[in-house]
Amino acid sequence: MSGQEFKRALGYANAAFELLKRSGIPPYPQFYELLYTYATGVNPSLNNRINAIFREGSSPSVDLAEALYNEFLKSDVNDRISDVSERMHARIEAVHDAIDSAMTTANAYSGSLQAASGDLQQDITVETLKSLANRLLLETRVMQETNQALEQKLEASRDDIAALQRDLDDVRRESMLDPLTKIANRKSFDEGLEAAVAEANIGDQPLCLMIADIDHFKTFNDTYGHQTGDQVLRLVAMTIRSNIKGKDLAARYGGEEFVAILPSTDLDGAVIVAENVRKAIQAKELLKRSTNEKLGRITASFGVAAFRSGDTPSSLLERADRCLYAAKHAGRNRVVSETELAEMQAAGSGISAA
Ligand code: GH3
Ligand code: MG
Ligand code: MG
Repeated sequence: MSGQEFKRALGYANAAFELLKRSGIPPYPQFYELLYTYATGVNPSLNNRINAIFREGSSPSVDLAEALYNEFLKSDVNDRISDVSERMHARIEAVHDAIDSAMTTANAYSGSLQAASGDLQQDITVETLKSLANRLLLETRVMQETNQALEQKLEASRDDIAALQRDLDDVRRESMLDPLTKIANRKSFDEGLEAAVAEANIGDQPLCLMIADIDHFKTFNDTYGHQTGDQVLRLVAMTIRSNIKGKDLAARYGGEEFVAILPSTDLDGAVIVAENVRKAIQAKELLKRSTNEKLGRITASFGVAAFRSGDTPSSLLERADRCLYAAKHAGRNRVVSETELAEMQAAGSGISAA
């Protein structure tokens, strides 16, 4: 994280705390997230609602904050996981009940068989034999019915469990994607980078990390609105995704920052990928969907770092971030690699060393 980014995040955090204090809302994680999001301004509908409350001269109450959090921020992934797990639990209980009742019937049946075998060892009349046979027939029928019911319940459970499994797979997949751009989210990126760095540390394959940040995106949002801004984020995500391949992983790192893990790629190769993405983004003429109004073009800046033996995910990320910062500093809409950063430093451009 660059110093600039750190200062910005701290500014949002302070603003969030100030609002919590002013409104008498306890700084529980969900309320902090709500007002932090408000402070960043990334969710215009949320901001409109909160601004309307402030305009009325009041401030959000705990209940209202809870409602706003549920409406705007609460991830439904957790809800869906508990739903699947509740349904799974209910299904397992039902199977247990069916097995218990089948076992009770089977025990009773075995008792009857034993009693009948005792009876048969004595001299019995035809009448008694007949009634014994009738009783056994009846109990056999009950036993058959219970078994059939158990079979049906097991069959239904098998279908249900297969459906639950599919739901769970969907939830798992969704929890790895960024809802806006549908590319990998920060969580998948963290896991992917961890695995890629571990592999690079034991193998002999190169690994590169590219980090991209849209230039002057705040101004773009302020000019054209957040919804159009969101369209741009989708476009950038798609552009990155279409310029990588194979084992590469593109992810949304946060707000308007994207990353790509490029295994089996050396620094020169990674710079080519970044340049391709940069040019493709710059080449797109943006049109407002609703009105076809021309919105000009956007650009992005890129940092590219190559894995060094002993690197951790955060040391690699930090070097890529430093390159990105240098790209911004050098005028934006450019790719800066580690090699270039070293050259810039040697030329005395005043950027801190990697
Ligand atoms: P720089 O060239 O230095 O990167 O300038 P910038 O304006 O892009 O950087 P800054 O970090 O000041 O602003 C980032 C902006 O990105 C703030 C916010 O308006 C926008 N942003 C972040 N997340 C989202 C999002 O989910 N949707 C939209 N529409 N905008 C977002
Ligand atoms: Mg940024
Ligand atoms: Mg930016």
